[in-house]
Amino acid sequence: MKNEQAKKILSSRLLPALFLSIAIAFVVGHVALAEDTTLAAAYKIISSKQFIDLTHSFSPITPVWKGFGQANFSAAADPETGRPYTIEKDGFRTFFYSLVGQYGTHIDPPAHFAPNGQTLDQIPLKQMILPLVIFDMTRMLMKDPSHALTVEDIKIWEAKHGRVPSGSFAALRSDMSKDWSTNPQRFKRYPFPAWSLQAIEFLYEDRGIVANGHESMDTDTTPDLKSERWLLNHGHWQIEVMANLDKVPATGALIVVSWPKPEHGLGFPARAFAILP
Ligand SMILES: [Zn+2]
Repeated sequence: MKNEQAKKILSSRLLPALFLSIAIAFVVGHVALAEDTTLAAAYKIISSKQFIDLTHSFSPITPVWKGFGQANFSAAADPETGRPYTIEKDGFRTFFYSLVGQYGTHIDPPAHFAPNGQTLDQIPLKQMILPLVIFDMTRMLMKDPSHALTVEDIKIWEAKHGRVPSGSFAALRSDMSKDWSTNPQRFKRYPFPAWSLQAIEFLYEDRGIVANGHESMDTDTTPDLKSERWLLNHGHWQIEVMANLDKVPATGALIVVSWPKPEHGLGFPARAFAILP
């Protein structure tokens, strides 16, 4: 009898108190959640993360397709006198750069290949920050040093890491970027690790990626550049000659990529970096 009464007291007094505390916790939690969506909170998170530069420094001696030729950096001069500006005489100095747009780590906009494709100044700003996924093909390269990533390879990757997120940037890790400054001749090898056309089509059409990138100077090694031609002719853009993809996990990072804005620009050195999870 005493037990029954105790149970009744418990349920009549403690249960409402329990519900009240759950309700308070919910409201407090909700307010905290609302605060977390501010840009200041997002910046606090982002600035606490590790950043990885995905860009090579470029110079007049770095690898480039022989059809384009090397860059030239010279002291900018007054066009009237031809005299180069110096800090001693003029208080400033600057370089006059002479280089092809597709130099060093660079962006290829659709218009690089497509007559009516988007140019550099037309690519939406929101595409300059994207979730980043990395396909590591270094193990595959032990068997075939110029393997082209297949749809099957991507499905095996997905079995381990989950579906390639729609709206992401997909990068191909081959580690050939490690030859960029130490062994430029090897860096320029042909054939090289690449994307198969089927893999590129699958990623854009079935998975909805926004852009792709790789460490080599071209997307693929087919005689008519099938993968590169397809993606640029379908309104997509890519970053070539990427660095440090070995320092980024398969999923969970963001890529930030930016480039100058020449009107109707057909390509330019780009600056890309990853924010690690
Ligand atoms: Zn290119």
